Amino acid sequence: MIRRDRSGKCLSVVAPAYNEAAVLDLFFEQLEPVLDACVTTYEIICINDGSRDATLPILLARRRRNPRIKIIDFTRNFGKEVALTAGLDAAEGDMIVPMDVDLQDPPGVIAEFVDRWEEGYDVVYGLRADRSRDSLLKRWTSRAFYSLFNTLSTVEMPSDAGDFRLMDREVVQALRRLPERSRFMKGLFAWVGFRQVGVSYARPERVAGKTTWRYWKLWNFALDGVTAFSGLPIRVWSYIGGVAAAAAFLWALVIVFRTLMFGRDQAGYPSLAVFILGGFGLQMLAIGTLGEYVSRIYQEVKQRPLYLVRSRFGWDQDADVGRNYSIVSKAS
Ligand code: UDP
Ligand code: MG
Repeated sequence: MIRRDRSGKCLSVVAPAYNEAAVLDLFFEQLEPVLDACVTTYEIICINDGSRDATLPILLARRRRNPRIKIIDFTRNFGKEVALTAGLDAAEGDMIVPMDVDLQDPPGVIAEFVDRWEEGYDVVYGLRADRSRDSLLKRWTSRAFYSLFNTLSTVEMPSDAGDFRLMDREVVQALRRLPERSRFMKGLFAWVGFRQVGVSYARPERVAGKTTWRYWKLWNFALDGVTAFSGLPIRVWSYIGGVAAAAAFLWALVIVFRTLMFGRDQAGYPSLAVFILGGFGLQMLAIGTLGEYVSRIYQEVKQRPLYLVRSRFGWDQDADVGRNYSIVSKAS
């Protein structure tokens, strides 16, 4: 691996924020000294993802004090994955670090990320060392999801890695070339490859405010991940159908044989009911799976912009607006 040198290099932090007024000041107070200490120059790109609280005014006030804070203001809430995409599209640094603003991604870890980047790694991802604070159900479902994902898909996603990581600009350029509307970022991060390494850290509790990730949202997030990275759930039905048809054929042979040899024996009602119900259930499952993919194809072909930006603070009026979004009005 070729060693790199951090001197003269710029680091971009990409931080999506949705109703985070309670934590933002603390976030900047902890992050800015870390960045001052470990890189020559930096930018912090905050995406205001349609917050309904004082997130934007706080960001603007912070920007007045530190012009290296840049703001992308969405027209509504587009979700964390899309907000991250917007930040990655806009980041200009040599190293790019997506992180949450609730201080669950401790800023201090960035110094270690930069060390590993200097050693020559293109992606340094954070690994949650200890998940004992998560509920048993959350740990269990998360483990089940990672093992399912890694079995079904061709890319390997390290379990316990989140979005918190450092990526070389080359990696981010590769990410920008992925055109899909369905942004399962963790999967995309794994898909691009490059030389990756993990760094363990203890993940603290959210300092204030509350998480918006409830189980239903997580379930849909998991569905997005699996369908975006594996065709197996939809392809497996031809095999299930084949096996069921073969079994039915064999069973029919048995019945014919038994009738010819021993005459009519049992009434068929119970087995018939089981087969009809079972077959019906399987068919619905198959159609539902098909639907999951078709609805995602529908999302893709509509070719809507991924997000709409009301204003951007920190860029020239004519800055390149990128491929993924349209700008509604501009400010700087
Ligand atoms: N977030 C966002 N848009 C959303 C939901 C969350 O930009 O619709 C941001 C949020 O402000 C935070 C990060 O995504 O910076 C992680 O959110 P949260 O802490 O709620 O998730 P958790 O840590 O519980 O997974
Ligand atoms: Mg959080």
